[in-house]
This record gives sequence, C-alpha cells and structure tokens, in this order.
Amino acid sequence: MSVPTAGTTRYLCPLECGWHHDVPPPSAERIAALGVAADPAARDLAEAISSVAKRACLTEAEWTERALCEHLATHTTEQFVRTIQGLRAEVAQMRGAGSVRPDEELLSPGSYEVPPGAEGRFSPGFIDRINQRRPDEEPTT
Ligand SMILES: [Zn+2]
Repeated sequence: MSVPTAGTTRYLCPLECGWHHDVPPPSAERIAALGVAADPAARDLAEAISSVAKRACLTEAEWTERALCEHLATHTTEQFVRTIQGLRAEVAQMRGAGSVRPDEELLSPGSYEVPPGAEGRFSPGFIDRINQRRPDEEPTT
C-alpha cells in the first residue's frame, strides 16, 4: 500500500482486504476536479467563496460514500459474517485478558498471575512456562 501525500484522508476497507479510498487535502485543483461552481445567487465574493467550499465539501463526501458503497458491494455476505465473527472473538479475548501495559511487557521477572477468571483460557503448562526463569535472568534465591 503506497503512502499517501500529507493531508490525505485514507478510508480503509473495514474487511481489511487492502482496498482504500484516498481523499486528497483541499486545494484549488481538487475543487476543480470535483467540478463545483459558485452559487449564482451569491451576493458578493465572500458568499461565492463560501458556496464553493460548501459544495466542494458535499461533493467530496458524496464521492467518498459512493466509492465505499461500490467497494463494499464487491464483498460477499459470508465475508462480512467472517469479519464480524473474528472481531467478536478478538473483543472477547481482550476482555478476558485484563490490562496490558502499553509496552506489552507481560513477562517481567517473577511470577505472572493470570487475571481472575482467565485461568480457564490458559493451560497450566503455559502459565508454568511463562513463569520459568529465563536463561539470562539472575537466580532469585
Ligand atoms: Zn474490501
């Protein structure tokens, strides 16, 4: 996936298939590409500029929505169901895992205790293994 130019808003497919829709930052070129013109009823330059900005915003949103809808229509119901199932499993796993430090350091020296209620999800062998002294660790006795 190529890196978009600064200021670009990238919409990713929620099914994580790799598709994306890029909306470039506002510019005179983008407004021209969107094909918007000033409201003929504008009474002065400020109103004309304001109407162009408003119409460009609305047209950009319409283009984005259309691109997303067209892309999502390429996915099957089964793909949506599988994604939802996967996300539900991840949420359930995270809810049961307790708090994780931002640096993801879980295996600090010493005994690791699984969060209350999580014992059933980890085999006793796994808990024993993570509590074993690592080869580079100083003996505690
Ligand atoms: Zn997709």
